[in-house]
Amino acid sequence: MNVLLIGSGGREHALAWKISQSPMLQRLYAAPGNPGIAECAELVSLDETDHAAVVAFCRDKDVGLVVVGPEAPLVAGIADSLNEAGIAVFGPSASAARLEGSKGFTKDLCSRHDIPTARYKRFSDVAAAKAYLDETGFPIVIKADGLAAGKGVTIAANRAEAMAAVDSCFEGAFGGPGAEIVIEEFLEGEEASLFCLCDGERALVFGTAQDHKRAFDKDRGPNTGGMGAYSPALAMSERLVERAMREIVEPTLKGMAEIGAPFTGVLYAGLMLTETGPKLIEYNVRFGDPESQVLMMRLESDPLPVFLAAAKGDLAGISVDWSRERALTVVMASEGYPGSYEKGTAITHLPADDETMRIFHAGTARDGDRLVANGGRVLNVTARGTSVREAASRAYAAVEKVGWEKGFFRSDIGHRAIMVEDA
Ligand code: ATP
Repeated sequence: MNVLLIGSGGREHALAWKISQSPMLQRLYAAPGNPGIAECAELVSLDETDHAAVVAFCRDKDVGLVVVGPEAPLVAGIADSLNEAGIAVFGPSASAARLEGSKGFTKDLCSRHDIPTARYKRFSDVAAAKAYLDETGFPIVIKADGLAAGKGVTIAANRAEAMAAVDSCFEGAFGGPGAEIVIEEFLEGEEASLFCLCDGERALVFGTAQDHKRAFDKDRGPNTGGMGAYSPALAMSERLVERAMREIVEPTLKGMAEIGAPFTGVLYAGLMLTETGPKLIEYNVRFGDPESQVLMMRLESDPLPVFLAAAKGDLAGISVDWSRERALTVVMASEGYPGSYEKGTAITHLPADDETMRIFHAGTARDGDRLVANGGRVLNVTARGTSVREAASRAYAAVEKVGWEKGFFRSDIGHRAIMVEDA
């Protein structure tokens, strides 16, 4: 089978690496891909926003499955265009992608189906939102309704911060006519990510992970897209996974099917493990980045038949095998990220991949025969081990060998899990 993978980050490199080993695969195309992906796929320059061009490419190259990495093309309806053309796609329709594309939509669904989540109210008017802040306690969480690449959420410690966040949501980068916000209760607990493959009706657990959002060690500094992750999440016992499936994921699938928007693809539940059980913080409608790097490092099954079964609505009876080992990834980012950073800085050396360590490319480019940094998050140094400590020590040993003067990384990825292992 020929497969088209859409995306260009570390998530897509990890997916491409794993898919490229499938005995079912004939050719793997990636659009636009990156220099790491080029080692396991044929890069094609396709404008993902031009759905007709993507459909035409798939017809021309006899593509049997499209795997969509990032959320933006899904929210923009690429899966609908492919489905209409009779091309199988692993990823949800635009109306099902509202689970990530609109926080208000997801909160209302939770409310209709008694899915545990933070108490909330939706607002489309500044004055009403501010009046509500007079009635609430603090901290409180203010969220822009739509996609904001992780930058639309403020945890306001007091009224002044909350007021400023409301203003910036309505006026600022996420504002404009029709702006909406969600104000919700602050939840306390440990965060964990649960991944499920869905076929519209059924959900298959596809691993757990924990990521590290803050830029610097000890969870300091600004929020980022993720500076590292490890899998499985130590805090997610089998019992908690079962409970989250029963109380959160399964009612969500049922609710989506009921409104005529059955969900297929990856449903990634961001959970807060509170004293009263797991609560939904948010849904993403695709794999996490960098969580997919650690999932792919542990996956023993061929992902292609599983993705295809999800795309075709036929996950019944399918199971997947995982390595019993832990996996951990350290993100190397350009100095200055998540603020402004220089592009084009030289990466002069990468240690060779082996059975227990691989480097996935996130934001790299070729400049002649030089490899250069071309984004905020640039390399994902990913390793496996019998413990998180062992995986971390392999990953950091490789990080030390990377020749890149302008990069930085957190030195404490997996620290909480290692503390628990050592206890
Ligand atoms: P991202 O794209 O980075 O995943 P997002 O913009 O989709 O983020 P959320 O995941 O909803 O936004 O929130 C970002 C982070 O804010 C969460 O990972 C969590 O740490 C924190 N957060 C969100 N909602 C709550 C809440 N109700 N209580 C406590 N913390 C919260």
